[in-house]
Amino acid sequence: MTRPVPKDWILGISPYVPGKSAADDGRPLVKLSANENPLGSSPLARAAFVAAAADLATYPDPSATALRKAIAAAHDLDPARVIYGTGSDELLHIAASAYAGPGDEILYVRYGFAVYDIAARRVGATPVIAPDADFATDVDALLACVTERTKVVFLANPNNPTGTMTSREDIARLHAGLRPDILFVLDQAYAEYLDAGEDDGGLELARSAPNVLVTRTFSKIFGLAAERIGWGYASAEVIDALHRIRAPFNVTTVGQAAAIAATADSEWVEQSRVHNRQWREWLASEIAALANHGLRAVPSKANFLLVLFDGALTAEAAMKGLWDEGFATRWLPGQGLPNGLRITIGTEAQMRAVAAKLRAMAEAA
Ligand code: PMP
Repeated sequence: MTRPVPKDWILGISPYVPGKSAADDGRPLVKLSANENPLGSSPLARAAFVAAAADLATYPDPSATALRKAIAAAHDLDPARVIYGTGSDELLHIAASAYAGPGDEILYVRYGFAVYDIAARRVGATPVIAPDADFATDVDALLACVTERTKVVFLANPNNPTGTMTSREDIARLHAGLRPDILFVLDQAYAEYLDAGEDDGGLELARSAPNVLVTRTFSKIFGLAAERIGWGYASAEVIDALHRIRAPFNVTTVGQAAAIAATADSEWVEQSRVHNRQWREWLASEIAALANHGLRAVPSKANFLLVLFDGALTAEAAMKGLWDEGFATRWLPGQGLPNGLRITIGTEAQMRAVAAKLRAMAEAA
């Protein structure tokens, strides 16, 4: 060997492609491609961020004590069992690293979040993809894919990029059907968008089951995607394993301060949830009105809609047309959905402009 050679499983990874915020010529685009909060972040979180920026020379609290306490108080959890990550992405990666390696399998449903594939391959494990049921989770199909080599199951609820929701009953049935030595990672990045009564029971499960890790994020409804903070809840044993391999000082001082303030600002979260539901339902009805042109939106509980194009207007053409209009959306050929376009719910003006452009393109196609 004359040079370092990456592990062959590393070269098998297709890099994560993030949503763009500017065209290649530098023209800014309205970003409806990364499921961020169109209302921005809570003013209280911004103020806390600015105040914390007074000290940039000192490392952040490595134990994120105040942040863990704030999260635990908000959800009635044990602060010792709350872990934090550089985005929930870090937690997904370290969960895979701690529990799987070469020869093991990591299982998830087709059209699962793109990071699951990377997290599995990064540690040399084999990603196994269970069939979906019209874009939603098919618990029986998922359980049928479990083998003795399965070590981790990832499930996002609501799921990205489909927006579909797995019911509380199905989550319980899935968990009950998994061997207790399999780590069940329930990724609740979009959980705060759910309405009262729609909770999937994940945190309840994680309180008592030794093999459940629930992950959440400050990147979505809390509007702190720039800060890269996620958190997780699991048994003391799972949390101990994850702490061993997380990066030291993995959440910044300003990020911790902003996240604590955001957790306390329930008004901002409520306002964001109400806005999202209103414009998600509005855009869904606009898409439904284009059914005769082959458009359909998958029913979503998250802050985006997966729109399928099965008529003369293709998803690629729709993505390009919206791009020309100044909107970045997420076309999904890399995730097995060449006819799918994921559109983040934006402001009223953005949604009206997107719907008008889709209608014009569909009618002209
Ligand atoms: N899980 C799901 C399902 C997501 O859609 C995302 C963000 N795209 C994440 C996790 C990661 O979010 P973050 O790392 O910003 O917390």
